[in-house]
Amino acid sequence: MKILEDMIKEKGQVINEDILKVDSFLNHQVDPVLMKNIGLEFAKHFKEKNITKVFTIESSGIAPALLTAQELKVPLVVLKKQTSNILDRNYYQTEVRSFTKNCSYMLTLSQKYLKESDNILIIDDFLANGEAASGVIKLIKSANASIAGVGIVIEKSFQPGRTKLDKLGYDIYSLARIKSLTNNRIEFLK
Ligand code: 5GP
Repeated sequence: MKILEDMIKEKGQVINEDILKVDSFLNHQVDPVLMKNIGLEFAKHFKEKNITKVFTIESSGIAPALLTAQELKVPLVVLKKQTSNILDRNYYQTEVRSFTKNCSYMLTLSQKYLKESDNILIIDDFLANGEAASGVIKLIKSANASIAGVGIVIEKSFQPGRTKLDKLGYDIYSLARIKSLTNNRIEFLK
């Protein structure tokens, strides 16, 4: 997606060979015009898939996921990051390893918001090792619901997440695909 790539080139900060900071338009300050365009693009790609809900993880996925849900005219569900187990049968939980924070959290979802008949579109800001997306997929499967696809704003294609999700056979749609962050340069996949 050209406007996203241009924004990344102009405002993205390479922290090291593995991490890109996009605090000025996605992760801290949020650009609403860019989010609107992201929502339109995801909705266009997934519109024929009979999606019933959009799922994301708090907090950086919320802006692109909300604009996508608005376009598709379905609810958005924000999965929570809890620090511990909730001993309550009314919740689904699974452990996820955080890529940027080097710690784990319990991905948590109330059973109220996921039914067997649901067909879910997962949206997240970044795809790195695929831990977050795999955790969401695991929760959806534990409710015997369906997964329509995964929409990623920024995929770091040199990390293992993309290959891992491709192997599961889902429709993975990434709006910007980064080939490398070496030598302080952002290189996109052509
Ligand atoms: P994964 O679970 O695929 O390893 O990592 C995805 C999650 O880690 C995303 O939800 C995002 O919050 C965070 N993340 C991974 N890589 C980056 C990065 O380069 N920059 C930022 N800002 N967040 C990242």
